[in-house]
Order: sequence, then structure tokens, then C-alpha cells
Amino acid sequence: MDLLWIKTHPIIKKIFSNYVWSIPTSEKKVFLTFDDGPIPEITDWVLNQLKTYDAKATFFCIGNNVEKNPEVFLRIIEDGHAIGNHTFNHVKGWNTSNKTYFKEVEMCEVEIQKSPMVNLKSRLFRPPYGKIKPSQSRRLRRLRYKIIMWDVLSADYKKEISKEKCLENVIDNLEPGSIIVFHDSIKAFQNLEYVLPKTLQYLSENGYQCDIIR
Ligand SMILES: [Zn+2]
Repeated sequence: MDLLWIKTHPIIKKIFSNYVWSIPTSEKKVFLTFDDGPIPEITDWVLNQLKTYDAKATFFCIGNNVEKNPEVFLRIIEDGHAIGNHTFNHVKGWNTSNKTYFKEVEMCEVEIQKSPMVNLKSRLFRPPYGKIKPSQSRRLRRLRYKIIMWDVLSADYKKEISKEKCLENVIDNLEPGSIIVFHDSIKAFQNLEYVLPKTLQYLSENGYQCDIIR
């Protein structure tokens, strides 16, 4: 069983300093991220929430979902959010040969680049489950990918976590520069539906801006 770190420990950030865990800033800014979409209705709902609060976010997309749902993907781009690569089939680096892993990243990249509107300023990659071998990360960094991890995990995908606890995970742990993980997935929706509007409201009331990862 995985140990669940809601707030990433500074020691982890230090040991794995080749990964991006948070984005130092002197401004009151956080970086919301949504993994595993795009999914019709769920991603649309997320985009509507973000729009209401004029918040920007970064979406780590699964290539297979981009292929199935190109209109939803297009809407993410049109709304001015950032896009990141999350492999084609959501594979776990630790259990996957490097050859297959790089193929997965490339297939996702191809799918992303197919969209006529896409104009990526930087290559962002988040390893599914946060699990990637050092050799995989080294190669991807050589290909100019930034490996984006997180500072705060909402754990919205966990069925055994109540929606109130999920909100507490986010609000009690965020600080300026935090990268926060949510999921625009069916699995996470029962928590996300409660947590996202309340998080956006909290951020807005406390003078935080939500920006994209660049
Ligand atoms: Zn994922």
C-alpha cells in the first residue's frame, strides 16, 4: 500500500530536485492541475468552474482521452489553460520498460499536437501515479520535458476520503507557489464536485490568483 503524502515533504523535494514540486513566487499565486482527462461533462464542468472565477489551470491529459474527446480538449486550449503530457494509456513508470514508456509519452505528444489550436510554450510531463524511474526522467528531461510533480495532493480520487477531508487537504496545505493536484475523472467527481468550487471561492476570497504552469 502506498503511503499517502498530502503535503509533499521538503526532504522529498530536496532529494528529487530534478522534478518541479512547487513554483517559488513572491505573489499570492497557486497552480491548479487536473489529471487524467479530457472527459466529456466532467472536464466541461471543471472549465465552467474555472471560468466563473477567472482561474487558469494546467491539464495533464491522457493521450487516449484526447483522441476520443477532441472537442473537450480543444475547449481547454481555447479557454487559455496549459496542457501537459500524462502518457497515452496512463502507464506506471516503475512497471514499464523504458522503451514502452517513451513510446507512451510520444504517442500522447502526437495526439496533443494533432489539435489545430495547440501552441505549447513548454513541454510539461506528469508521470502517472507520480512513479517514474530515474532513467526515464533523465531521458525526458533531455528531451526538454519539465517533470511536474506536486506540493499538495487533494486525494479527490480516493473513495474512502470524505469530501470535507478532501477540501481540508487542499485548504490547510496550500501556500503561495503550491502546485495542487485534482483529477477531471469520473472516479474523482464525487469529491471534486464539492471541493473545486469551495477551493476556488477560498482562493478568490483570500486574494490568490490561479495561474498556468509555464
Ligand atoms: Zn493520472
